[in-house]
Amino acid sequence: MAQVPDTPVRPGTAVLTRGFDPSLSVGSARPAVFRSSTYVFSSPEAAERAFNVASGRAPLEPGEKVDLIYSRFNHPNAEILEDQIVPLEKGATQAVVFNSGMAAIMTAFFACGRLGSSIVHTTPLYGGTTQLIHQFLEPFGMTGVAIPAGQGEALDEAIRSAKDPSIVLIETPANPTMIMTDIRRAAETAAAHPARPVVMVDNTFLGPPYQHPLMLGADLCLYSATKFLSGFSDLIAGVALAKDEALIQKLRRHRGLFGNILQPDECWLLDGRLPTVTLRMNRQSKNAQRIAERLVGHRRVKRLLYPTLFDDSEQVRIRMAQCDYPGALFSIELYGGKAAAFEFLRNVRIASNAVSLGGVETLTCHPKTTTHSGMTAAEMDLAGITDGLVRISVGIEDWRDLLADFQQALDAI
Ligand SMILES: *Cc1c(COP(=O)(O)O)cnc(C)c1O
Repeated sequence: MAQVPDTPVRPGTAVLTRGFDPSLSVGSARPAVFRSSTYVFSSPEAAERAFNVASGRAPLEPGEKVDLIYSRFNHPNAEILEDQIVPLEKGATQAVVFNSGMAAIMTAFFACGRLGSSIVHTTPLYGGTTQLIHQFLEPFGMTGVAIPAGQGEALDEAIRSAKDPSIVLIETPANPTMIMTDIRRAAETAAAHPARPVVMVDNTFLGPPYQHPLMLGADLCLYSATKFLSGFSDLIAGVALAKDEALIQKLRRHRGLFGNILQPDECWLLDGRLPTVTLRMNRQSKNAQRIAERLVGHRRVKRLLYPTLFDDSEQVRIRMAQCDYPGALFSIELYGGKAAAFEFLRNVRIASNAVSLGGVETLTCHPKTTTHSGMTAAEMDLAGITDGLVRISVGIEDWRDLLADFQQALDAI
């Protein structure tokens, strides 16, 4: 940036002022797209140095810039995006971007897991993550230990008693029940364990503006940037952020081997969305809160799952301690089971019936038959995913139109 402020600035400013030098893009005020697959070295010695640093054989000296090598390892648009996303995540010093949220999670597992070790995780998790642990990593020789979301005592006990725990993965709030798990508590238990498992939080639902896992003792913050970070349901991306630079370097080296870096065009698109993520989420969260709090008590609504409507005192405590705002997702459990849920989905006119979440447009889905259909009946019971449950991701439309639409859709069941 031409003018980097001398005094530290807040995240909303830093996201627009750091990490991009117009002089490297012929003066362009916004980043250009660099689509080259390979980069010309400034000298054979610089090429040798770049390979030594990229492979981890030599450390990067403070302030040193090494030549780019090849776009599977790194490229300018990934560097710009990684620099600009860091100020949005409280406590982060470095980021690494991937070509999907699943790629970020998979790479983190391979970078931090060990053969014969355990992954202790909350359940429900994102469906893909559950399958990755139990159907892919278990046959490879790792063990997944699932603990229901929100049960701090049981999670502590699982971390203490698991066979060689290498990873603790927390997804909070849980999808689609919104049950919250205490990040600080799990991080303290993990820190006290001699095996020192890496604590990862999938922060897709409330981050980066509303929940700050790295400030609560987590080691790695993971995102499906496909959701709120990108915000327009038009690209797939993932991000990992950490306080510890060595941990990010490790993920970066694995990314180079796996070939799952985010491509230049996608980096450029996502980078352009960063300055508005807090604006979008503020509007989405306010909309969701206004709508959810007004749908409570409708004769068709059995339960409304939303953070400001928690009645369990431990859940209220966790929300107050770890979340700044309640977010854009809520779930409604309807009287009348699956038939009522399907009728509601058919009756809704403004929102679309689609999976995914976090976009500027409102989306509705039936978790039991779609996003969570891979779970066994016992797992669904444990997680509270019922026939009558509908998940809603609220967008930036006028909340009064959405409310009226949901009310007519409920009335018509
Ligand atoms: C969507 C999602 C993922 C997977 O991300 P992709 O970008 O689709 O690979 C992981 N975790 C959560 C919580 C998600 O919502």
